[in-house]
Amino acid sequence: MRTKIKALLSKPEIGHNVTVKGWVRSFRNDRFIAINDGSTIKNIQAVIDFEQSDEQLLKRITIGASVAVNGELIASMGKGQSVEIKAESVTILGDADPEEVKLTILSPKKHSLEKLREEAHLRPRTNTFGAIFRIRHAMIFAVHRFFNERGFLNIHTPIITGSDAEGAGEMFRVTTLDPAAPPKNDAGEVDFKQDFFAKETNLTVSGQLEGELAALALSDIYTFGPTFRAENSNTSRHLAEFWMIEPEMAFYELADNMDLAEEFLKYLAGYALEHCADDLEFLKQRGIDEDSKKPQAERNEMDLMERLRFVIENDFQRVSYTEAIEILRNSKPNKKKKFKYLIEEWGADLQSEHERFLVEKHFKRPVILFDYPKNIKAFYMRQNEDGKTVGAMDVLFPGIGEIIGGSQREERHDKLLERIKEMDIHEEDLWWYLTTRKFGTVPHSGFGLGFERLMLFVTGMGNIRDVIPFPRTPGSAEF
Ligand code: ATP
Ligand code: MN
Repeated sequence: MRTKIKALLSKPEIGHNVTVKGWVRSFRNDRFIAINDGSTIKNIQAVIDFEQSDEQLLKRITIGASVAVNGELIASMGKGQSVEIKAESVTILGDADPEEVKLTILSPKKHSLEKLREEAHLRPRTNTFGAIFRIRHAMIFAVHRFFNERGFLNIHTPIITGSDAEGAGEMFRVTTLDPAAPPKNDAGEVDFKQDFFAKETNLTVSGQLEGELAALALSDIYTFGPTFRAENSNTSRHLAEFWMIEPEMAFYELADNMDLAEEFLKYLAGYALEHCADDLEFLKQRGIDEDSKKPQAERNEMDLMERLRFVIENDFQRVSYTEAIEILRNSKPNKKKKFKYLIEEWGADLQSEHERFLVEKHFKRPVILFDYPKNIKAFYMRQNEDGKTVGAMDVLFPGIGEIIGGSQREERHDKLLERIKEMDIHEEDLWWYLTTRKFGTVPHSGFGLGFERLMLFVTGMGNIRDVIPFPRTPGSAEF
């Protein structure tokens, strides 16, 4: 019976005979094998009696090889571990040729994150990515637990969408037509009636509109699915394929929406602290090492754990867009033209540099901005009395900028239709959405949390490509 290393270390039963299976991380002095099986960041050390061991076998214990070790669990004399296995048998399950391993990221030296990305097929074997993917799992689980505890239903919204009115970003086409010779109609245009779905279809950019349909029957729902945006922006915060959590709540107004978003983020940070201590500790140290190479001004003032606790312990600052614009307009970086995009007048869309200024320099805590100009927001957001703004809210986080985008939805049929027309959106495409505003409409709200943005915050990593196993970005869909 194999025991996972995590279980072995959390309740060590000295004197028991155990079997572990995993991959060799190092082999020192023909005697000490460090084995990792991915269940924890910690390795278990197996000590072999090399004088009694077959020389052929010793040669095959190499970095990257998979092994099964059986022996007695004993208290360790060495430092760095409290227990170790006194190996009675070592079986090589899969060899790893040292000459070939040497050329990969498995070789024991410091590799850049860029290099690790090129070898995304092997990076789960590293400490950094093992930690990230374990935390990723914990956060997925925490998301479901949070909503389940509050009576929200998980809804699967379609991934292939026939609606082109989601409006959240550029879409990827889904078609089975031959790109070299698509069928044409009489007008000489591509005839999508002959396509698989007999119409044009795309990959979803958001499950919100369908989520609203569910909320307007089931009260509180959430989606947690893949979303696709053909964003040609090569930033450290955008992916072409990412995972989004979108709760949608009937009878919620904007302030209720903000309360839920704040509670949700605090819960997730707390869950990580409680359940991912070893991995966070490793990543914290990693962050400190990285910071030490940077100029003082770019270093984090708080370490990873302090940043997580900071979010839990502080109320998020709620500020209207209008107030924020005033703050930004009068800010030092704006006056000294340090911002890439200067803030000149009300109505400007905020860039991540502005969002981060508000959070990191001005308020020094997470910020919820609300009541944005209607012209920079989507058609479905609820129109305010002033005729200029809508009930939108974005949650801004240190190091990241926007982590959540949400709004109270326009529940008044006529107002919604008016806005759809104003924005030149095909009303026919939204007949189903409009129907809910005719049959028992109610105030409702929701938001979207980009799961990988959350992961950036919780792991302290700087590039979104490093918090998803296989990133998709412009020009890159490897593996
Ligand atoms: P941004 O201004 O940062 O591009 P957005 O306004 O396009 O974000 P929304 O459409 O409101 O974002 O999407 C909701 C959430 O999804 C965002 O708050 C963010 O956390 C996440 N998100 C949006 N686009 C991406 C992307 N390309 N990659 C990863 N996460 C994203
Ligand atoms: Mn965007």
